[in-house]
Amino acid sequence: MWVERADDHVIWVGGPVPPGAAGWTLGSLVIVRRRFASHQLLLAHEAEHVRQWREKGVVGFLAWYLAGYLRGRLLGYNHGAAYRRIPAEIQADWRSRRATGMGATGSPCSG
Ligand SMILES: [Zn+2]
Repeated sequence: MWVERADDHVIWVGGPVPPGAAGWTLGSLVIVRRRFASHQLLLAHEAEHVRQWREKGVVGFLAWYLAGYLRGRLLGYNHGAAYRRIPAEIQADWRSRRATGMGATGSPCSG
């Protein structure tokens, strides 16, 4: 277990992570499982959550995140499907893929 300092946040490698997750973010603290310590896409994804926490504030982020999840559940999606539809997760996925060059890189029209 160790701690690294990134640009504007701290990464705690080997800290407590919810079951089934590779990592998670609480404000400016990113916690990842040890085997994901060098996973650039995950680290970029969590860095985007740091930006979201900062942009929306603690109450704003939690309200936005939980409302996105509850909306999915109320629409009848199971936990995993509702999680994948949380706007904060979708945004973090897109921005982390763009930042790392893995996946979406700009215009969908390449021709
Ligand atoms: Zn996420």
